[in-house]
Amino acid sequence: MSLVNEHIMKLPDSYLFSEIATKVNIFKVTHPSRKLVSLGIGDVTRPLPAACIEAMHSAVDDMASAERFHGYGPEQGYDFLIDAIIKNDYLSKGIFFTPGEIFVNDGAKSDTGNIGEILRWDNSMGVTDPIYPVYIDSNVMCGRAGELMPDGKWSNVSYFPCTEENGFIPELPDKRIDVIYLCYPNNPTGTVLTKQELKKWVDYALDNDTLLLFDSAYEAYIQDDNIPHSIYEIRGARKCAIEFRSFSKTAGFTGVRCGYTVVPKELTAATFSGDRVQLNKIWKRRQNTKFNGASYISQRGAEAVYSHDGKLQVKEIISSYMKNAYMMRNRMKRMELDVYGGANAPYLWVKVPQGMTSWKFFDRLLYEAGLVVTPGVGFGPSGEGFVRMTAFGTYDDCLEAMERLESWMESL
Ligand code: PLP
Repeated sequence: MSLVNEHIMKLPDSYLFSEIATKVNIFKVTHPSRKLVSLGIGDVTRPLPAACIEAMHSAVDDMASAERFHGYGPEQGYDFLIDAIIKNDYLSKGIFFTPGEIFVNDGAKSDTGNIGEILRWDNSMGVTDPIYPVYIDSNVMCGRAGELMPDGKWSNVSYFPCTEENGFIPELPDKRIDVIYLCYPNNPTGTVLTKQELKKWVDYALDNDTLLLFDSAYEAYIQDDNIPHSIYEIRGARKCAIEFRSFSKTAGFTGVRCGYTVVPKELTAATFSGDRVQLNKIWKRRQNTKFNGASYISQRGAEAVYSHDGKLQVKEIISSYMKNAYMMRNRMKRMELDVYGGANAPYLWVKVPQGMTSWKFFDRLLYEAGLVVTPGVGFGPSGEGFVRMTAFGTYDDCLEAMERLESWMESL
């Protein structure tokens, strides 16, 4: 008899976006002629930068040639991409990494979800709340998160609320925690931490022997100089942090799949008997067994992100999304909605009108304005009372969304 991993069964049936999709599908079936505008799922809409397309076409041609064909590549990624990452994302900021510290992958979701495999199941863990659901769900799956409680929290997870009251800046835990996930710029709130604020977390981690798992999938959207793009801009972080990056939102690679994880060689964790081991070695061993590398074509595309033309094209694409965010933010402020984020991130975090829950606001916007947003409570208990809107649509769609929202607000 095979026994199932019952921890997985503890996860509520529907993942947030499936639940939204079900509601949207029901709406479409019952209102076939109504056009919906979606500010919901966080997928990009602009085509890939031309430099990436060109590089991938050329990589396909390589695959058609016996001399330039690429089969299995190095599990950690091709040197051409790793070198470009080190030079452009880190050396340019005075941060030094060797190629063995960069692990190219098929996007940040896999590694943020899988990293827990190299940590004992009984580490204590903490997350900012609300947060990208993968961090908690992947810990539920291995039993680390404990049991789901009636308030929507997991019994073995510490939550650091990010609320209007604290300006969406989480307070440091008042106890020791083994592993903490941070995501900045933040999905879903679109808020950021300054260098001074992030330093407090790094200092906490160094003082408490805590491992920080830092997801900076949205770093390309940062506009302000005092906002760190990488946790390694903070002194000491290479001793306490793993960083996850992705080409998905930077260069529209959501359908191409490529990202990378940085595991510095200085970073160690303890065995049960107290010896220190390099997490880089353990992660490498895990990847060698379970990952066969991102595709050659994706990696050539990602390399082109760092070319002269690629950089200009990426900048233009990000500016266009940020122009949407700017317009949406201003329009919603004019509607006297409380709106956060959207200045250094493609997400806006909007307070729902008084007396409504996140889901109620979602349902009403869907049925009364033909507008799809994401209920904040789907990202954690502190997300109740908010919805997330994304700036990834076309400018016209974002404008149409704001017009529908304004008319709806006026009708209240
Ligand atoms: N991290 C965060 C915070 C995200 O919002 C997402 C995607 O929405 C990811 C990681 C995963 O990105 P990908 O797997 O496409 O690299």
